[in-house]
Amino acid sequence: MLRKVVKVRIYPDSEQQTKLAQAFGCSRWWWNYALNHSIETYKETGKGLGQSALNALLPALKKAPSTKWLRECYSQILQATTLNLTTAYKNFFDGRAQFPRFKSKKGKQSIQYPQNVKVLDAIVKLPGNIGEVKAKIHRPIEGTIKTVTVSKCPSGKYFASILSEVKGDVPTPSSEGNFIGIDLGLKHFAVVSDGNKVSKFDNPKHIAKHQQNLKRKQQKLARKKDGSKSRFKNKRLVAKIHERVSNSRQDFLHKLSTKLVNDNQVVVVENLNTLGMLRNHNLAKSISDAGWGIFTNFLSYKLERKGGLFIEIDRWFPSSKLCSNCFYQMSEMPLDVREWTCPHCGTHHDRDGNAAINIRAEGIRILKLAASQSVGGGYPVTAGGGEVRPKRGRKSNLRRSPTSPEAPTIFGTPNSVVGSSPPSYLKDEVVTLKSI
Ligand SMILES: [Zn+2]
Repeated sequence: MLRKVVKVRIYPDSEQQTKLAQAFGCSRWWWNYALNHSIETYKETGKGLGQSALNALLPALKKAPSTKWLRECYSQILQATTLNLTTAYKNFFDGRAQFPRFKSKKGKQSIQYPQNVKVLDAIVKLPGNIGEVKAKIHRPIEGTIKTVTVSKCPSGKYFASILSEVKGDVPTPSSEGNFIGIDLGLKHFAVVSDGNKVSKFDNPKHIAKHQQNLKRKQQKLARKKDGSKSRFKNKRLVAKIHERVSNSRQDFLHKLSTKLVNDNQVVVVENLNTLGMLRNHNLAKSISDAGWGIFTNFLSYKLERKGGLFIEIDRWFPSSKLCSNCFYQMSEMPLDVREWTCPHCGTHHDRDGNAAINIRAEGIRILKLAASQSVGGGYPVTAGGGEVRPKRGRKSNLRRSPTSPEAPTIFGTPNSVVGSSPPSYLKDEVVTLKSI
């Protein structure tokens, strides 16, 4: 089964807007209530609450005088909220995401229908009391409709994201074809090595372009009185600029990922700890503007669809510190060093180009290792330190320990990384793999 998502704009009338606002409110209230309840239960008992335990709270809430308005809400919306909350918890415990947050009235609002949505000509038919909503269906929805998420942006626009399942198998992944390594950065968005040459793709810096405009509108907004009509108007204007920024970012990320996936069969990237990096305030704005996480997701699902391979290598891999010619490892490589010369072999390196070459070589090594470890051919999901993931969202439990920066080591001859004897800094990992 192949899964596809199509996001369409919908145009609810004013009555439907009121009903949607109520549904957003119920879903948000239940999310916050369930999250709070889970946290409190955890504090008292040391145990969390699962999906069915949370759902079991709903009937009593629907009877209680203070919360009986929950009855008005289409029940499957609440069930879907519970499921999303437990998924958010799971993602947190698996180290994929931050702890789930309480939802606010401000910002994007959404509800999810787990089933029973129909798409007709220029109409999305929602179950419950909302009914047929006008829609702009810009491409046909293929296959069986599964879940539909209805959202309202701060700019006032409504959307429906329609997830459908199409019959057919995901192509068997194959590594026959071009093999690239990508170094994601801020100076250049992506630096790509295909083994022969290095190409650089500039970061479009969307926010910077719109920054002046955004600043002016935000200042204007700050001068408006709370609750006034013009404050509401100006808030919409600011939200619209944010939306424009995010649309052009998505557009760029889609175009670049499609190009790279069309031209190549195997793509290797570094697993960047963006959550950790976002905590560094100076870099946070540029990093969230760059959208690395969205980009690697795009690469991953587009490759999966075509039967290509997406390899994520561990973020501890010293891609910037390693000389791609002789594998000498520098003890330090500060962020502002853009070019350097290897003290061992004398090769002059462009920082990002060298990193991309190393990332590619590491990907090849992991793939060879994975192929030699798997019995009967095919690729295992995990390959120590790095990860070959034909499926999206799967995380490797194997982590390479950070290499010691104090001990620069010299090993191997150029290109021997792919050979049978792994470089010394990888020996621990190979032992781990063999013992599995
Ligand atoms: Zn060197």
